[in-house]
Amino acid sequence: MTIRPRSLLIVLILACLVREAPIRALDRRPGSSPGDIHWKAYEDMAVDLMQRYLRINTSNPPGNEMATAQFLKSTLAREGVQSEIFEYTPGRANIIARIKGDGSKRPIILLSHMDVVTADAAKWRVDPFSGEILEGSIYGRGALDMKSEGLLQLMTMIIIARERPHLTRDVVFLATADEEVGDTGSIWMIANKSNLFKDAEYLVTEGGDNLREGETVKYVGVDVAEKAPYWLQLTAAGEPGHGSRPIADSAPNRLVRAMDKIVGYETPMKVLPAVEKFFRDIAPLQPVNVRAKFENVREAIKDPKFVKFVAGSREYNFMFRNTIALTMMNGSKQTNVIPNAATCNLDVRLLPGENPQLLLAELEKVIADPTIKVENINGFKPPNSSPIDTDLFRAVSTVEKSHHPEAIITTRMLSGYTESQLYRQLGIICYGWSPIATTSQENEGVHGNNERITVENVREGTQEMYEVLATLGR
Ligand SMILES: [Zn+2]
Repeated sequence: MTIRPRSLLIVLILACLVREAPIRALDRRPGSSPGDIHWKAYEDMAVDLMQRYLRINTSNPPGNEMATAQFLKSTLAREGVQSEIFEYTPGRANIIARIKGDGSKRPIILLSHMDVVTADAAKWRVDPFSGEILEGSIYGRGALDMKSEGLLQLMTMIIIARERPHLTRDVVFLATADEEVGDTGSIWMIANKSNLFKDAEYLVTEGGDNLREGETVKYVGVDVAEKAPYWLQLTAAGEPGHGSRPIADSAPNRLVRAMDKIVGYETPMKVLPAVEKFFRDIAPLQPVNVRAKFENVREAIKDPKFVKFVAGSREYNFMFRNTIALTMMNGSKQTNVIPNAATCNLDVRLLPGENPQLLLAELEKVIADPTIKVENINGFKPPNSSPIDTDLFRAVSTVEKSHHPEAIITTRMLSGYTESQLYRQLGIICYGWSPIATTSQENEGVHGNNERITVENVREGTQEMYEVLATLGR
């Protein structure tokens, strides 16, 4: 084809526009349905990209996420998807890309963090940054937490770019730095570039828990809520002295009395909708004698026997109450010295919607000793949660049921903390979910040794992640 000068000019202008627009709309063509997609090619591509992504060392500290941001950018660029990198500090970067839908519904964000925790190579079977495949699993730091989910989100962008399904929503791909240490990547994005994503209705990121036993997926847990750490320090002050002449109300003695009261104190039980649903959903897995209790925990918590059962369960207790764990204690440095101060630290975790000031007042009442100082020692972030009755939950449910008809699909509350907490503050419904189903043995690799993901998970996950987006975007 020959190009006349005038058309050449137009082509050049268009080329410049396309290059400069950070976020590009794809031309629409009649989209293909998941049934028409040639999955084998995408799955092979996903396995190859997974290995390459794991080979980039983003141990945090120092992070070095600029390297992964460039890898993701060039991969997206090959598919015609424009992206923008923000290097907010030398070597530390976030990357964002957006594929346009028809705009009739609000966007969904696919969020992942690119950094990983450090690895002690001597304790691994293979180099933690080799991406080597052994016995059907891809090894590498980040294989579960969370370069794998990031990779599946990247694959979704690639498949959308190639298959052009009709989408009612924009899909935003966001990969950040520093989740494992200080969240500075997400904090920076929210403070400086939130105009690029705050119009979103939904966000999907890490969290969630899908349990595989043998060939079957037992259950799929979508995290919709998480607790918030509210760390406290108690300080008792008193007269110092020689250990040979005890002081009845010394600082350590008064602190021990206060600690004893706290350890014996049980915070009130509360039932959040996500927790109620979780127990109802897992009821069929329980022994017959407790099944009815699980089906209706709102009633069950009136039964002292059930309350005792929950209080004794590490797995369930935190879901019903603000928890208080005594963790650090400090007194004298010498056995024969009565110190003038003694301290202890409490790891307090609040349920979504709780007011830290009320808990503090409650504890002071329990301690009943005004000479003991109680103060908050961490940067408190309010605990929050997302609704459970949403199109996103239904999309996850539909897709997971079609692939794993035997699985129970439920909502969960995390005892820990994820970046969902930050994005929920923008009014976005945030879920911790990924299509990766692991055995409890594989889970030990998260922040541990020999972190790995099965090739099968990468293959199945490529399809499931895309299908959830295609279902939600219909
Ligand atoms: Zn993580």
